Amino acid sequence: MAGIIIYSDTTTLTLELLTAARTIAEATGLTITAVSINNPDQAAELSTRGADVYAIDSTGLILADTAAVASALEQAAGQSEANIILLASNRRGKELAGRLAQVWDAGCLSDVKAITCKKGMVLCERNVLGGAAVATQHITVDKQVIAISPRSFPVSTDQGEGKVIEFEVDIKPSLRIVETRKKAEDNVKIEEAEILLVVGQGIENIENLPVVNEIAKALGGEVACSKPVASDKKWFGEERIVGLSGKICKPQLAIILGVSGQVQFTVGIRDSHTIVSINNDEKAFMNQMADYVLIADLKEAVPELKKKII
Ligand SMILES: Cc1cc2nc3c(=O)[nH]c(=O)nc-3n(C[C@H](O)[C@H](O)[C@H](O)COP(=O)(O)OP(=O)(O)OC[C@H]3O[C@@H](n4cnc5c(N)ncnc54)[C@H](O)[C@@H]3O)c2cc1C
Repeated sequence: MAGIIIYSDTTTLTLELLTAARTIAEATGLTITAVSINNPDQAAELSTRGADVYAIDSTGLILADTAAVASALEQAAGQSEANIILLASNRRGKELAGRLAQVWDAGCLSDVKAITCKKGMVLCERNVLGGAAVATQHITVDKQVIAISPRSFPVSTDQGEGKVIEFEVDIKPSLRIVETRKKAEDNVKIEEAEILLVVGQGIENIENLPVVNEIAKALGGEVACSKPVASDKKWFGEERIVGLSGKICKPQLAIILGVSGQVQFTVGIRDSHTIVSINNDEKAFMNQMADYVLIADLKEAVPELKKKII
């Protein structure tokens, strides 16, 4: 193995990947090169954190065209003789990981939440069995694409002077953008919130939601929800779902309102620093994971909470 490439179109996530790459580099002596596409500010930021950067400037290369981005990364890996490419395991990053592994003839792991190195192997921790267990896995072939879940590693704040190297790529676009439209859903990033109020089906009535919103606002947090509240009841957009089919969140404080705590939900919240569960069923699975439990009817508990906080 000769080197590690890191890439995400989001600078914060690339800085997390830089921390992950340094974990591998410290154990293996591999060099690290970041790739930045049509984003000079990102390239400059990464270089001030000590990373050498291949800066690609190509108007024909559209970030949504993951086949073309995969081809660019394959070319960058060829140039730097890298054997490991780290990507962010967000929606676009996961699509990219699969495509890249296919064109680069590499092994691939996504949704990786921790990395350790042992005897030259990169050991990756991932949730398995729908989030009921955590497995440590590694890729057995030389070329490795590893997509790391957001917030699994801290953002690198190291200071340094990396080189920004202009890197030309030969790209055949596979997409032509005909029109762009703003998403109908809201742009909330629940996975970045430090305080989350998570609404489950126990909230029962849509009329109770404004109070939850007020409390979240007063605390400087965001409102998220369990899957049925968004997918079945349509009270929220799917951007706010916590869990296996939604977002993996690690807030400092998660206040869970009327969620039963099925494993597909808890996988998205269990790494929170402090969990409070309010539920009228003392046997709810959610309560077993919580640091604090209030057995109460939300119709009474939520207005009481508002009185205490606002
Ligand atoms: C492949 C797959 C993927 C899935 N992915 C996800 C996912 O990403 N996220 C997700 O959330 N789910 C997911 N699910 C669904 C998941 O299994 C659960 O069905 C879902 O999480 C249940 O949502 P809930 O806890 O809000 O509702 P419920 O299970 O109905 O629980 C409601 C809770 O509220 C309590 N309650 C009721 N009334 C009150 C009241 N008045 N006061 C206080 N408490 C009250 C009840 O005691 C209960 O504990 C997935 C399922 C599958 C099969």
